[in-house]
Amino acid sequence: MIVCKFGGTSLSDAVQIKKVVSIMREDPRRRVMVVSAPGKRHANDTKVTDLLYQMAELAFCRLETDAVFQVFEERLQETIYDLGLDGDLASSLLRTLETRLSRKDLSKEAFFDQIVAFGETCSARIITRYLNVNHLPARFVDPVAGGLLLHRVQGHTVIDDKSYQKLGESLQPKKDGEIIVMPGFYGGDERGHIVTFSRGGSDISGAVAAAAIDAELYEVWSDVDHVYAVHPGLVHHPCPIHEMSYREMRELAYIGFTIVHPEALQPVFDKRIPISVKNTNQPNGAGTNIVHERGPIDHPVTGIAAADHFCAVSMRRVLSNPQVGVLASILNIFADEDISIEHAPTGIDSVSIVIREVNFPPEKEERVVHRLIHELGFSPVVARNLSAVMLVGEGMLDSITVVSRAAEALASQRISVEVMLQDYYEISILFMMSEAERERAVPALYQEFFSTCPD
Ligand code: ASP
Repeated sequence: MIVCKFGGTSLSDAVQIKKVVSIMREDPRRRVMVVSAPGKRHANDTKVTDLLYQMAELAFCRLETDAVFQVFEERLQETIYDLGLDGDLASSLLRTLETRLSRKDLSKEAFFDQIVAFGETCSARIITRYLNVNHLPARFVDPVAGGLLLHRVQGHTVIDDKSYQKLGESLQPKKDGEIIVMPGFYGGDERGHIVTFSRGGSDISGAVAAAAIDAELYEVWSDVDHVYAVHPGLVHHPCPIHEMSYREMRELAYIGFTIVHPEALQPVFDKRIPISVKNTNQPNGAGTNIVHERGPIDHPVTGIAAADHFCAVSMRRVLSNPQVGVLASILNIFADEDISIEHAPTGIDSVSIVIREVNFPPEKEERVVHRLIHELGFSPVVARNLSAVMLVGEGMLDSITVVSRAAEALASQRISVEVMLQDYYEISILFMMSEAERERAVPALYQEFFSTCPD
């Protein structure tokens, strides 16, 4: 069986929904659909999930929601009308939303969750009805009742291992040719309250569904033909990536590749289910396959990712190297402030702690610097506005020129690298530099490694 996850642009209106349905018809192995909320129909449009966030905010503050509700209502009715479905579906969905907006018994988090998840419910209800009306047997599976059990741990949504068995049973077709339609983005806690993943989380729901039924393939349908070797906003017409490994995807997703939600990799990784990224508007294109082990690799670098807003806290103290536990003491200070550390390159008597700027507001900086000075005797220097540029490729392991080629490409642009790190498994090389230099670095590296596109 194949699990297909359709993103918001694939479900933005009736025209897109019809494309999705013909994709499902085309291959009888496609048995489970996991759907997002309707996305943007054009550049200036608003995603349905964003409308729901606006409504939740207003309703929670006891402010008028009518104007946003009306935009939502018109959009829902238009899609239902254009699909030729009965208007009673819109009325019943709108009544449910009204009930959710008026709930007073929930915490802020639970109140928001049950509202912002509603876009996915609407997509799934509409598609189930449309399939049935068009003689394709379909069944709606609610992820909460269906067994997708989620917990919030320190603001992060965690999947309970019990989910796989129960959801696996719920997603089994009950009759020949039945298509299961499940809303993405949410599950439920032990009390049956809706809990959402982070934004873009329908990818994770799809991955859990694929793992739960031991799918042969997990297809992620969006509006791009491929994953590209570099973000198309940074280089014109970049090379497509035809195949990449889970590890490469994970490394690239770490700084900026957003095609598949990084947390979606874990469930399919464990079961070695391949992922195929495909375009709903070009369904016969090859797309990008994300696999456990790649075939022969003829190119050392698979992709180049870049992200801004990093900072480095660097410190040096003569003869700190022989002292046991210094590094642990430094890291503990960051841990006490609940700051996640991205990298910690060390020299003989020096260490830099690389973190994301969002995790290091000025008040935390003040406390951390104060403790590093007074408790450990360092004189730290904080550099902000740094960018990370990362070369990723399983092929680097068998290649001996990647570092020198990258260094020359950067030197040709007179870029001064602040930090360089290669991971032990030689799948990635990370360069930190100023944000201004990053703009020149990415095209230079791309030119060096992708003067011809890999086959
Ligand atoms: N609708 C949610 C969002 O916009 C989840 C998703 O589309 O995957 O983030």
